[in-house]
This record gives sequence, C-alpha cells and structure tokens, in this order.
Amino acid sequence: MAIALYPGSFDPVTLGHVDIAERAAPLFDELIVAIYDRPQKDLLFSTEERVELMKKALAHIPNIRVVPYSGLTVDFAQKMNVSVMVRGLRMSSDFEREFEMALMNKKLAPDVELVCLMTNQDYEFVSSTLLKEICMLGGSIEQFVPKHVAVALKKKFG
Ligand code: ADP
Repeated sequence: MAIALYPGSFDPVTLGHVDIAERAAPLFDELIVAIYDRPQKDLLFSTEERVELMKKALAHIPNIRVVPYSGLTVDFAQKMNVSVMVRGLRMSSDFEREFEMALMNKKLAPDVELVCLMTNQDYEFVSSTLLKEICMLGGSIEQFVPKHVAVALKKKFG
C-alpha cells in the first residue's frame, strides 16, 4: 500500500470528485486530496473555501487528508513523499489531457505513477465549470453536488 495524491482545482467539489475519492481511498494507506491554489481557470471560490468545502464533502472517509498546494503538482507529490497520483477520467478529452500531462510528469518525476479511475456513469457529464454556469443562470444543481456545496454556490450567485 502507498500514499496517493488526488490533485485538482475542485472549484467547487462535485459528486463526481467525491465518487473518485471514495473509490480511491480504500486502495491506499492514505489519500491526500490536494487543492491547487492557482489553476489557469477563473476561480469562483478561494483556496480556503475550496479546502473547507472539500473537507466537509469527504469527512466520512477516514484515511483522507485535504490540503492546499501551489507550484508544480509533481513537485508537491515528491515533497509529500507520494508515489501515486490519482485522477478521474470522464470522456476522451479528459484522456487526451491526462495522457499528455502524464507523459510530461513522468519525465519530471519518474518515480511518481499515475492511476486513473473511470467516472461513475451517473457523473460522466458533471463538471464544476458546467455547474457554475447552470447555477449562475438559475438552474438546479442539487443532484450533482453535496448539500453544503449547493448552498455555497447559491450564495455566490445571490
Ligand atoms: P483540474 O483543473 O485539475 O482538471 P478538476 O477539479 O476539474 O481539476 O478535476 C480534478 C480531477 O477530477 C480531474 O482528474 C478530473 O478529470 C476529475 N473529475 C472531474 N469531474 C469528474 C467527474 N464528474 N467524474 C470523474 N472524475 C472527475
């Protein structure tokens, strides 16, 4: 068994992310969910907010730690003594992006392996970006995020 890192923007955490964390955690001694502080995306939630939303969403899983990070993901993985990175795959576009990143990461940190888990079919079309757009336009997002995340999203959009 080993320690694994599940990195991402998680802006905000969705049930798709929770599903990946629930399935990955039993495979490792510890799963560190790492929240990237400055992704190249427009963020709705601050790093502290994303960490708090994630902690609450994963509170039922015992061997999980949620931490923020900055800089290169592979550098953080090495700093945390992690040998495996976990990512979720939804569709072929995810695969292409992950494949490209994985090949580069292997050059940068040859001792860190990548494990990809396929999405649960119920969440295949769920993305934080899409949910933010739906919520902004007044649509219902309750079935795709934990309850406290739905509340936080609605608060952001007044
Ligand atoms: P990033 O900006 O690093 O892609 P995200 O928060 O969008 O961060 O996603 C983090 C990880 O979770 C990625 O590996 C992504 O593919 C995966 N993921 C996102 N949504 C889902 C979902 N609905 N089902 C499975 N995996 C998902």
